[in-house]
Amino acid sequence: METEKREAPAGEADREKTPEERAQEQARFKQLAYERRRQRREQKRAEEEAAAREQKSRTLAGDERYMREAICLAEKAAAIGEVPIGCVIVKDGQIVGRGYNRRNAEKSVLGHAEIAAIRMASEKLSDWRLSGCTIYVTLEPCQMCAGACVQARIDRAVIGAMNPKAGCAGSILNLFDEKRFNHQIDTTCGVLGEECAALLRNFFLRLRTEKTD
Ligand SMILES: [Zn+2]
Repeated sequence: METEKREAPAGEADREKTPEERAQEQARFKQLAYERRRQRREQKRAEEEAAAREQKSRTLAGDERYMREAICLAEKAAAIGEVPIGCVIVKDGQIVGRGYNRRNAEKSVLGHAEIAAIRMASEKLSDWRLSGCTIYVTLEPCQMCAGACVQARIDRAVIGAMNPKAGCAGSILNLFDEKRFNHQIDTTCGVLGEECAALLRNFFLRLRTEKTD
């Protein structure tokens, strides 16, 4: 638009504008203002999208970091011949609970990884309520553990592999998102899911080969 003005013949600006020219000029200004608003809107949207992507990748990086801790604990279980399931509980960026499956060692169904981690976190925080905590577990929790998480008012659950045969965070039931309970748990599934599943697959494969040997 400015180029147009500069290219206008000398004296053009001094001449009284006709109503038609004034209308055209107003239309041009309106168009310009509209373009500027549109650009600002687009820029704002791009910035918001970039911030959301950044937040998501930060969260994912954090989730993967803690899931790796849970995987280390699952490997401890495997080392003593237990089904490899590991769990950590995190509050304010600190691990406050750790657990791994010890069902055979303890000869108790209460020996699940999550129960051990919940017990440890409750002791550490001196509270049965684990508000503000996130639980990271390599395998989708069973009904007992999912129930304990809800009872403990855990805020968020991050799950590695799903368990179609016994999982109660979406597979068979979803105790984490049952509106009839007084507490729901924000859930993220599939974090390092393939690694968590491979841990279990390899464990059972080894068991079978040991049996046939
Ligand atoms: Zn369990």
